[in-house]
Amino acid sequence: MLHLVASTTNTLTVNGERLMQMMTAVGAIGALPNGGVRRLAFSPEDREGRQLVQSWMEAAGMTVIIDAAGNMIGRYEGRFPHAPALATGSHLDTVPNAGIYDGTYGVLAGVEVARTLHDQGIRPDHPIEVIVFADEERTMIGSKAMAGKANLDPNFYDHPHYEPIEMGLSFIGGDWAQLPSAQRDTDSLAAFVELHVEQGPVLESASNPMGLVTGIVGQRRYLITIDGSASHAGTTPMTMRQDALVAASQIVLVVNRIGTKTDDGYGEQVATVGAMKLSPNVANTIPGRVEMTLDIRDLSNQRLDAMVAELQREMDAIATQTQTQIHIKPQLRNEPVPVNSHIYNTIAQVCDQLKLPAHPLPSRASHDAQIIASITDMGMIFVPSQGGVSHSETEYTTPEHCIQGANILLHTLLKLDQHYRCPEDITAIRTESKI
Ligand SMILES: [Zn+2]
Repeated sequence: MLHLVASTTNTLTVNGERLMQMMTAVGAIGALPNGGVRRLAFSPEDREGRQLVQSWMEAAGMTVIIDAAGNMIGRYEGRFPHAPALATGSHLDTVPNAGIYDGTYGVLAGVEVARTLHDQGIRPDHPIEVIVFADEERTMIGSKAMAGKANLDPNFYDHPHYEPIEMGLSFIGGDWAQLPSAQRDTDSLAAFVELHVEQGPVLESASNPMGLVTGIVGQRRYLITIDGSASHAGTTPMTMRQDALVAASQIVLVVNRIGTKTDDGYGEQVATVGAMKLSPNVANTIPGRVEMTLDIRDLSNQRLDAMVAELQREMDAIATQTQTQIHIKPQLRNEPVPVNSHIYNTIAQVCDQLKLPAHPLPSRASHDAQIIASITDMGMIFVPSQGGVSHSETEYTTPEHCIQGANILLHTLLKLDQHYRCPEDITAIRTESKI
């Protein structure tokens, strides 16, 4: 039976035309004049999009529930209904000026996988779940609650420009008062695989292979403060200055140099000074104080530690040379999230089997997958983004790449279905052997 399933499923492909029709239909909800979309979480457009997706899930024979955190979960039952689910999905909410692919593509590819299995009468051992996470772009409340990591104080998520999160959640079918009930038992999930557009230029610059995500980078943010001495720009001789901006400028160059290093195991890190505040910020006064941000990201905590240590050494030297005082203070730390190596290898094998070139790369953007990784095995697949553009109306991925990605997702889930054992599976074998 298993062999028969394997041979029929090897050549299985999703219905690409149907997938692209779904993309167009969801993209029309909250459509902007230049081809983009605005479907903010908890808005009428968000709810309308979810309702449309729900109808397709139901047409694929899925049961659909909305948990207390507003996650919409479509479930295609497996042969063993009590087996842990193989889950996929992403988000339908968008940033204010979005393209139609970010998040939506991962959801609809998952729905298309379920529709394909349903059309072909294929019943995997494990249930397949397609999850539409609530509010990925702002609070990530859906995935956080599912992983048991949500802050239960609604004020934590409050924002002056938005309605209270409790109201937002109830508008899409959630219930803030019951938020802890959205937490998933680790036994209820076998794995989670998220398919997403890259949102960066790496795959395109490598001639558009499929992306094998190696992990989601850790991010650290710091505030660097440089104290010099504000004094008259005319009367203070050049040799007697403590110019905080001169020190800051040197630090910016060091940050850039550390960010572009490729020796000693470096190579995929990024490092950015994105904001700077000068004081007193006056044309005829030497800057006495500079505050600036530092954002560094990499898959390895060791490398991030090494980057900070190297910067610290350089800053000590700059402080001496410029007669300033330089302090660095941590402000944010998100740990790197590695992907599960078996899922990574499975995705690579599937690309091979489908004769699609594949390229390893880290994800430098946040995704629901990084939160869900704390409760189950996680993997991610990227498809190329034209021009590396995302969170923009000009975001684009070719239909060919969209369809290829969905086929990779389909075969990855089918392979994982064979990899993870179901408790019922063992029971069934025992029962059979008794007979
Ligand atoms: Zn996204």
